[in-house]
Amino acid sequence: MRALTVAPNTANSARIEDIPEPPRSDGSVLVRMLALGVCGTDREIVSGKYGWAPPGEKRLVIGHESLGHVQEAPADAGVKVGDLVVGIVRRPDPVPCSCCAVGEWDMCRNGRYTERGIKERNGYGADFFRVEPEFLIKLDSSLGAEGVLLEPTSVVAKAWDHTERIGRRSRAWAPHTLLVTGAGPIGLLAALIGAQRGLDVHVVDHHDSLEKRRIVHDIGGKFHLGSLSDLDDFRPDILMECTGAPAVVCDVLGRTASGGVVCLVGVSAPGYCCDIDIGAVNRTMVLDNDTVFGSVNANRKHYEDAVDTLRRADRSWLARLITRRVPVEQWTLALDQHPDDIKVVVDFS
Ligand SMILES: [Zn+2]
Repeated sequence: MRALTVAPNTANSARIEDIPEPPRSDGSVLVRMLALGVCGTDREIVSGKYGWAPPGEKRLVIGHESLGHVQEAPADAGVKVGDLVVGIVRRPDPVPCSCCAVGEWDMCRNGRYTERGIKERNGYGADFFRVEPEFLIKLDSSLGAEGVLLEPTSVVAKAWDHTERIGRRSRAWAPHTLLVTGAGPIGLLAALIGAQRGLDVHVVDHHDSLEKRRIVHDIGGKFHLGSLSDLDDFRPDILMECTGAPAVVCDVLGRTASGGVVCLVGVSAPGYCCDIDIGAVNRTMVLDNDTVFGSVNANRKHYEDAVDTLRRADRSWLARLITRRVPVEQWTLALDQHPDDIKVVVDFS
């Protein structure tokens, strides 16, 4: 079968390989791939800056945003042949730590978790993959090709889950406004959940795109071109930072309304020092009971929350988030970043 592989820590080693069908040890359910979403993590892996091959191997099958049809499943798997499914990315560490022990592998405390297509486990970027039933999520077949958005939606669902849990430290917490920085797939999905919660949604991005303006508008949100400093005195109750751009991260600190929550979802590269008045930031954050926290990955509950989010969303709106489809044979083109890209998908169908 065809597989998209890389040699981790080696730049530009990406290629298509013919490899044997996936081993039974990967799980009892066999899935035929339909589509694979590509994200910044994949670009980092392909550029040689991130990623680990399975123990004893030199190459890694890349890909963690899956969508496929069940090809073969045991009777007790909870899915049947033909079901539309997505594989969960992370697996608990072998110890396990206190979080992994209770199914919260997204909160793993010892860093020894593994991840399909990223860390020590082959990914989903192949004609077929195998997966354990407990790490498989079934989608309604009516969702179709947009189901490839489930994995990024699960990451956002976790960010929302934790934001709301932090917000509830005050019994009176009732947020009205959401500001999202970055109109990429994560930012737009965060905005979608905000709209589903009935919030007044604002999205700020430094790149102007008529289509992104429309996408935000069509969920009742407002698109702002520029940076946070262009938003004057607007202080949202919830701020989701989805760019990972260091200058934006500096700007979001202390930027919420009193008792606000800033959730950092974007990942920055180290090596950027910025000049901020940390005294003023601390003063604001302490006196206003502000919170800043980071959020990564998702556990099974968040994938289930994400299923609910996609089910409630307008399907044609979701479809507009998938801006390019690249055939498997040319999959490395999916890694290029075009100015108007939102989600780019490798088409296995
Ligand atoms: Zn753990």
